[in-house]
Amino acid sequence: MTHLTALQLEQALQLLGQSGRAPPQGEPGSPAWLQGLIDTLVDLSSRDALTGLANRRAFEMALTREIDRVARSGEPALLLELDVDHFKRVNDTWGHNAGDQVLKAVAGALIDSVRPMDLVARVGGEEFSIILPNCAASFGETVAERVRRRIERMPVLIAPGAEITVTISIGGAFAPQWVRSTPTLWVERADLQLYRAKAQGRNLVQIEPTAVSVVSSEERQMLFETSQFQDHE
Ligand code: GH3
Ligand code: MG
Ligand code: MG
Repeated sequence: MTHLTALQLEQALQLLGQSGRAPPQGEPGSPAWLQGLIDTLVDLSSRDALTGLANRRAFEMALTREIDRVARSGEPALLLELDVDHFKRVNDTWGHNAGDQVLKAVAGALIDSVRPMDLVARVGGEEFSIILPNCAASFGETVAERVRRRIERMPVLIAPGAEITVTISIGGAFAPQWVRSTPTLWVERADLQLYRAKAQGRNLVQIEPTAVSVVSSEERQMLFETSQFQDHE
């Protein structure tokens, strides 16, 4: 082992230590040990440090994969964009640590209110996204409402004897079935609904109606550009 490699391994192990992860199992330097180290580092690089949720990078990769899947299978998939309401007030009133406690509690509640196959990500400060593969159009509103209500009812202990509650606004959009879309377009459509939920008073769910007419002109263009004879998949 060269000095350089030993130094890099030392740094990698330090990183694991700082993140609270256990060192890899097995004889240090053995192939199994190195593989364990790589696996843990890969996992760390796809997670948000505060909440342990998938981070923005992992979310974007998952969204691209989901778009491919929907275009191939025609299965419905829902994207939810969630934003904590008046979160700045929580920080201003109770302090940044209390704000962090709220974010962790919201993250846990989100994970608990969806299926294991759904991907919950923290994509910004107090902004979360959920990808729900194979979610029927008739179920979108129900699942988003369940998430909203769960947060609204959840007391968060921010200091001994001090509990607060927060609310979230949720915007949602289904991936256009049989049409190749882009992650950006899909996120923009869900974000537009989130904006509407905020504008209409917050602590609300807004899901884009799933009529064919909601396919944007840009997406329709893509449909016509993708000839089935050119499609090699
Ligand atoms: P709105 O209802 O319109 O979403 O209002 P808001 O106050 O939630 O939105 P705004 O974007 O004004 O404020 C978001 C705040 O989130 C500001 C920022 O300081 C705080 N924030 C961002 N990341 C973190 C974090 O990791 N921890 C804590 N405690 N606060 C954070
Ligand atoms: Mg925000
Ligand atoms: Mg907010």
